[in-house]
Amino acid sequence: MQLIHFSEAGQSRIGIKTERGFLNAAKAAAALSLPVPSYIDDVLKDPVQAAQLDAILARADTLTDPVYYVSLDEVTFLPVLSRPGKILCIGKNYAAHVAETKSEAPKKPLVFSKFTSALAAHKENIPIPAGTDKVDYEVELVAVIGKKAYCVSPEEALEHVAGYTIGNDVTARDWQKGSPQWVLGKSPDKFAPLGPVYVTADELDPTHLDISLKLNGEVRQNSNTKHLIFDIATIISYISQHFALEPGDIIFTGTPDGVILGYPEDEQVWLKPGDVIESTIEGIGTLVNSFC
Ligand code: MG
Repeated sequence: MQLIHFSEAGQSRIGIKTERGFLNAAKAAAALSLPVPSYIDDVLKDPVQAAQLDAILARADTLTDPVYYVSLDEVTFLPVLSRPGKILCIGKNYAAHVAETKSEAPKKPLVFSKFTSALAAHKENIPIPAGTDKVDYEVELVAVIGKKAYCVSPEEALEHVAGYTIGNDVTARDWQKGSPQWVLGKSPDKFAPLGPVYVTADELDPTHLDISLKLNGEVRQNSNTKHLIFDIATIISYISQHFALEPGDIIFTGTPDGVILGYPEDEQVWLKPGDVIESTIEGIGTLVNSFC
């Protein structure tokens, strides 16, 4: 199943991919006299609401009028997840990225976090804070937890993943490097755009996905998730030895090479208002954000 999250008349709505396009779950439910969830987060946490979505999808064939479908060009997207309990991230997780930053590969997953206030949607503008002039991009595959994971083995770990989306781990490098803790550089408002689509785990093999990023139309990052140093199963197992991962928690799994930080210092041109980033992952889509 592929889902989007969007706003309509100030309300949160879910769209479900069908052969006719993304079905507006709320409009479909009204027509079918069925209950409807409004947040993908709730679908992950509550089996009753997950079943409600399944019931709507099962009868989508009866809804042929375009009025029931979302116009992706016109709709206002919301972050794929609105209220994750945790936003975790893995640093230095592609060897080529480790090399370009002239650092050493971590011996175990390097875990940090972002705040939920950093979430942003597909097509949302990301403000560059006044006090930084070294803002960088990082396209990443994002795993979404669907089942509580505590002290799980790598072999069990992927059973706890509900699905995947695309994230851009936007980073203010001067603030990241200004102290041993990265949070000030990683978590300014809207520095964690997510989307545009949430793809359930049954539809995607996360181990071999092309991953790329364009800045103003120019390809800057271009790799494949097969190059992750610590794969998703290893990451989840490792984190879960320390604390429980809960449904709706999300994990940014690391960025490949090609970030601005990796350029020679005299060639580093940091992000500025008006820049457009397109973050693409095979099988999911393209997350677009402009800076302001
Ligand atoms: Mg990152």
